[in-house]
Amino acid sequence: MFDFIVVGSGAGGATIAKELALAGRKVLIIEEGRNVPAERAAETYRIAPSGVEIWQTVCLGGTTLVSMGNAVRGVHEKLESYYLETEKEMGVTPVPESHMGNGTRLLLSVSKDWRFMPKAIDFSKCKSCGKCPLGCPHGAKWDANAYVQKAKASGAQIITETPIKRVLIVGEKAVGVESFDGKTFKANNIVLCAGAIETPRILMRSGIEGAGSGLYVDTFITVGGIMEGICLSGELNMSLFIKREGYLLSPHYSSFIVPYLMSKGYKVRPIDILGIMVKIADEPTGSVEEGRVIKGLSNRDVDLLYRGRKEAEEILIRAGVDAESIVSTYPRGVHPGGTCCSLVKGLEPLIESLYISDASVIPGPFGIPPILTIVAMSKNIADILTGRA
Ligand SMILES: Cc1cc2nc3c(=O)[nH]c(=O)nc-3n(C[C@H](O)[C@H](O)[C@H](O)COP(=O)(O)OP(=O)(O)OC[C@H]3O[C@@H](n4cnc5c(N)ncnc54)[C@H](O)[C@@H]3O)c2cc1C
Repeated sequence: MFDFIVVGSGAGGATIAKELALAGRKVLIIEEGRNVPAERAAETYRIAPSGVEIWQTVCLGGTTLVSMGNAVRGVHEKLESYYLETEKEMGVTPVPESHMGNGTRLLLSVSKDWRFMPKAIDFSKCKSCGKCPLGCPHGAKWDANAYVQKAKASGAQIITETPIKRVLIVGEKAVGVESFDGKTFKANNIVLCAGAIETPRILMRSGIEGAGSGLYVDTFITVGGIMEGICLSGELNMSLFIKREGYLLSPHYSSFIVPYLMSKGYKVRPIDILGIMVKIADEPTGSVEEGRVIKGLSNRDVDLLYRGRKEAEEILIRAGVDAESIVSTYPRGVHPGGTCCSLVKGLEPLIESLYISDASVIPGPFGIPPILTIVAMSKNIADILTGRA
């Protein structure tokens, strides 16, 4: 009999599995996705179509495999010591100037407000190739498989390609989980870490009501235009950031910009685009249901995106981008969170022996890269579950 079943192996799942296994608990990780080499993670993207399109990956290690490596603290003071521990484990360091390419340097030269982005990247291995969102081909970027491997080394068992349908509940106690193909797995405790889209769905299918609302995604657009031969597309992206009230700006190449410009009659190559991401702390007004995700833009979201876009355009024009050529991508989101906050009170179990440890229990609006906070929170939950906190 396992002490804990951990459902999902992303930022939350890998962390809690590692901490529990290191503390001597018998752990089983059950993951929907495959075990893929990091550089093939992009094959596992799953996109939820909604007003704001939501992108995640389904594989061992979860969405961390395609992260940009940005490692920024949230404003959760009680997690201070866990943030410190996490930063140390991930080797978080601001991007050194040696790893900034021409596009980043040009943007840096036209505004004094940029700060260097802290990244969970080993810069002795990083080739600044710009492939972070496809999966790192150089083993330089931290992803949750580092923790999955540590959990395994401490005795955790791992089952992949097994999507979990529901939690098995007897009386008021969670006793196991059931997969979509009817297999059952028993344990003394269950920790759901399937992410902010799937964790509420597992709860709904388990007959637990009230999950699914409060969805935020840190909606973003990329604003870009033509700067011939600048090659932001082939360098480390998001090496700088400017934090404003409600939005964040960061150098970013989006492959969607080229077809937009071609449709306007420009002859343009990926290496000719200079761009800036505008990412907002969107209102947590979205919701997850069994067959669909509903996430649009509130009036406040539109206003923030508008203000961010104006500032990004001004910076791009100062950098020499042809003002006529500047376009923006449609809104997307890659930080889904908040969908189980209305159910979970602090770090209490949902029902006896049932816990959640992923982005679904982090309240929004959020607006910054969440991995550091998810990992720090999961360490805190592991300490509570093992009686260390
Ligand atoms: C392109 C991109 C870039 C990003 N860059 C950054 C960044 O630079 N910094 C940052 O902090 N954040 C970044 N993020 C966001 C970050 O990756 C996520 O916020 C984070 O991974 C969420 O952690 P999680 O544990 O909630 O979910 P996930 O990491 O998504 O893990 C959920 C896991 O559960 C599995 N699963 C789902 N359903 C089931 C089921 N039914 N049964 C079993 N398993 C299931 C999934 O396959 C997955 O492995 C980025 C995201 C994307 C897409």
